[in-house]
Amino acid sequence: EIPAVGNPVRTRAILEKYRLRAKKALGQNFLTDLNILKNIVEAAGITPADNVIEIGPGIGALTEQLAIAGGEVLALEIDTQLMDVLDEVLDPYNNVQVLNEDVLKANLPDLIQTKFTDPSAPIKVVANLPYYITTPILMQLLKSEIKWSSITVMMQKEVAQRIVSDPGVKAYGALSLTVQYEMDAKIAFEVSRNVFVPAPNVDSAIVVLEPRKVALPIEPTNEKAMFSLIKGCFSHRRKSLWNNLQTLYGKTPEIREKMQAALDEIGVDSQIRPEQLSLEQFVQLSNALESRDL
Ligand code: SAM
Repeated sequence: EIPAVGNPVRTRAILEKYRLRAKKALGQNFLTDLNILKNIVEAAGITPADNVIEIGPGIGALTEQLAIAGGEVLALEIDTQLMDVLDEVLDPYNNVQVLNEDVLKANLPDLIQTKFTDPSAPIKVVANLPYYITTPILMQLLKSEIKWSSITVMMQKEVAQRIVSDPGVKAYGALSLTVQYEMDAKIAFEVSRNVFVPAPNVDSAIVVLEPRKVALPIEPTNEKAMFSLIKGCFSHRRKSLWNNLQTLYGKTPEIREKMQAALDEIGVDSQIRPEQLSLEQFVQLSNALESRDL
């Protein structure tokens, strides 16, 4: 019987057969630990009822495990050179489609409608992400109108820690708030750099995102304004909230008066650092500023 693609000996044989060298510029680090591959699929809670989207299948190690556990699998790979490999390696599985596409340019809602037999089945993303575009990919997934059942993605450990971070610590910032606005986020487990071929320069972690179970108690009156406020506040995270607000909105007496009134309304001290504000407080602050035409 042929060993799984994720088996280190099989991986090496595939790379040799196709004379492949991992492309650094595309973030190619192939996972060669079957236990970890299975643990990722388990963390994602993949069942035969699921439509699965994989980003960056590489030589198909994770894709194979997704095909075994899932319903239908749609994998998007940018590297044309890998198409023949994937074709051969995934040949035994009739529930997998591989597209030679850049995920950042893909029309995901359209692909879901046209590629899955039942587009209304739960849609789960599972991926060992190309690390150089982790954040753009996450932003694309979150700002799409798709109702993801879950997003389970491997990334650099430090980025994972920023995503799941609570207020008050250094890792907390615009990324934490942007993700947590939509999703509950947790780290499922960490992965050593040594289980990849070639080994990356960083350790990794698996992040699981699921739609928020508890809705935010208040909604922003202007979502775009709230995200500008968040982004602006964390561009000088060592400065006080007050200094950041002055940079964002201005320093005239009239503006300062409005800003102080907004802070008073929500009961926040102007001298705290932005990282001490919770997501809920950012929503409150944004609404309080909006209502004063700032
Ligand atoms: N899934 C494989 C594994 O776990 O061993 C490979 C993961 S590797 C970290 C990232 C993969 O994403 C590579 O195969 C790379 O070619 C692919 N990739 C990079 N940029 C991409 C993009 N913009 N769209 C789709 N795939 C991309």
